[in-house]
Amino acid sequence: MIVAIASGKGGTGKTFVSTNLFYVLAKKGKNVTLADCDAEEPNSVAFFDCVKLSAKDVVQKIPVIDQNACTYCGKCEEYCTYNAIFLLKERRIIRVMEDLCHDCGACSYACNFGAITEKDISLGEVARYKLSSELLSGADSSTGTCSVLIEGRLRVGAYTPVPVIKAAIREAGIEGIVILDSPPGTSCPFIHTVSSADYVVLVTEPTPFGLNDLKISVAILRQLKKPFSVIVNRGGLGNREVYDYLTTENIRLILEIPFDREIARIYSEGGIVAEKREDLEKKFEKMAELILNQCK
Ligand code: SF4
Ligand code: SF4
Repeated sequence: MIVAIASGKGGTGKTFVSTNLFYVLAKKGKNVTLADCDAEEPNSVAFFDCVKLSAKDVVQKIPVIDQNACTYCGKCEEYCTYNAIFLLKERRIIRVMEDLCHDCGACSYACNFGAITEKDISLGEVARYKLSSELLSGADSSTGTCSVLIEGRLRVGAYTPVPVIKAAIREAGIEGIVILDSPPGTSCPFIHTVSSADYVVLVTEPTPFGLNDLKISVAILRQLKKPFSVIVNRGGLGNREVYDYLTTENIRLILEIPFDREIARIYSEGGIVAEKREDLEKKFEKMAELILNQCK
């Protein structure tokens, strides 16, 4: 069961929801994995006391053109839909623009002169962590289940997080409950993350920006035919337009988290709110139950 916690907009509380959901499920002894797919800025691991178990490099294949074998026929340039090959036939100049290359292999396939080989370049890393806190490892040993965190981290300067996100989702696997902490926005990183999920929870806030990005996310999820529901974070802030929209569109609101100074303080100090506040622990438990029931 794979649940993506997503949002059209950064800063709405995806990581807040993901880490607290992970916490309540792990505390109950569920076999749960939290994969941080916000590869440009992963921070879920920072909320837990963890031990790093392993790390894998995420690499991309980049074509290398042998200028001696190349006849400058231009077929590879024609095949490259990403305009990653720069060719000046008359001047006999050909270059691969590595930042534009999507590792599709079309140019290698196109070349009839054996002029193209490939090299690996590192895009980032996927690491696996195990919780070491007493509370959660206690649940672990008593039930025989495990709570694992996966982190996809993009190398600084790498042009796209998508291969790192895909590698993180692969690493998370399909056992038990997998929570994907989605990257913000509604572009490729978001699409790749929610496409892998059985169910999506959209986190929004009751502001005009929140509503605008919620509408875009909803349109995409409907096109992808993904079941979803909504959490409103910072309830009480802004206006009622988000609630009106949810009613009009018949979208289920599964949790409202109040705009509360203490919640902000606990979160900003790297704490898990469900661990410190019983009322919120109960709310997250109820939400977890609702999500798991929706996924059945
Ligand atoms: S691998 Fe694909 S994207 Fe990269 S240069 Fe070749 S054709 Fe273009
Ligand atoms: S297809 Fe091969 S031979 Fe033709 S321009 Fe590209 S690398 Fe050179």
